[in-house]
Amino acid sequence: MHRELRDVPQAVSTGALPPPARIDRIVEAAHSRYLPLEDGAVADYIPVLAAADPDLFAVAVTETDGDVHEVGDVGDRFTIQSISKAFVFALACEAHGHMVLRERVGVDNTGLPFNSVIAMELGDGHPRNPMVNAGALATTALVPGATPAEQWERVRTGLSRFAGRSLELDGEAYHSEMLTNHRNRALAQLLESYGRVEVDPVSLVDVYTRQCSLRVTAHDLAVMGATLADGGVNPVTGERVVSGQTARDTLAVLASTGMYERSGTWMFEVGLPAKSGVAGGIVAIAPGKGAIGTFSPRLDSAGNSVRGQRATAYLSRALGLNLFASAAHAEPGQRSGPGERSAPGDEQSMARKTGSGEDRTA
Ligand code: GLN
Repeated sequence: MHRELRDVPQAVSTGALPPPARIDRIVEAAHSRYLPLEDGAVADYIPVLAAADPDLFAVAVTETDGDVHEVGDVGDRFTIQSISKAFVFALACEAHGHMVLRERVGVDNTGLPFNSVIAMELGDGHPRNPMVNAGALATTALVPGATPAEQWERVRTGLSRFAGRSLELDGEAYHSEMLTNHRNRALAQLLESYGRVEVDPVSLVDVYTRQCSLRVTAHDLAVMGATLADGGVNPVTGERVVSGQTARDTLAVLASTGMYERSGTWMFEVGLPAKSGVAGGIVAIAPGKGAIGTFSPRLDSAGNSVRGQRATAYLSRALGLNLFASAAHAEPGQRSGPGERSAPGDEQSMARKTGSGEDRTA
């Protein structure tokens, strides 16, 4: 939290999801609506990703009460890739706090692709945000641990707590990426040259590549996201994984940077903090309500899953998740004039407010 507001308690402002049977129907509809869509292409800059089955498609929603609604290939495993950046950010933020991450990694969009070197060069080697590769490397460097092996174990167990099960490394994906990740090695060396990291850049890329190679399912992504939606408590295991403040900070940074240079368009269309990965996963989080995990390997030119984005946009709209959507308290003509307005706390006014809230979520 910003120091200046330390004495002000964090109040929350969230609503409720529709009833479970309605969520089931809407999740089914999101899946069947976009199943025929074949736009986009599977990532191939990491050789093993090119072998993915492009037709796989999974949609999962986990509520903050732990209920899960899912359809499609929800048990199929894929590598988490860049989605790991969100959860490693949460672990680093939990260890060092809001201001250290804000100052050392940054929270502003670069407006450039996720693996951009220019973005870093333009700002004295400052990585700008934790969701692009330079900032993700700088964030992984902040994970506590005396050795790279200890940091890796901390990442693996930390992300496993978000998922509520022990996540394992996809060894084939890790080796495949290690043979081709010259650009990430260059970014790590640049970070070192600018004095932005205090760890060995070669080991740093190794830990980062491992974190990207953890195997997850769409179901896992929905549970991991729901932990951020639930103030840092995993709603399935009941375990507190990070503080409420860390969960909030993570969602805030995802809102401006999670979909790379398309984050503005994403927020305009979908209105939810989200993170994508090049293996085809997307997690989107509705604070206080739950999270959406999708998986479909065909990507657009920014590296975001085509069907995953469409299904998430549909769910955001149909489930009432868009953070910026509101319904009028009263239509023009039904509104009482300023002079007649009841005093705050007045019983009638409170009843009307509660009533309109229930209408919207029914
Ligand atoms: N491991 C990938 C990389 O570093 C992750 C990128 C992504 O998912 N966008 O390039």
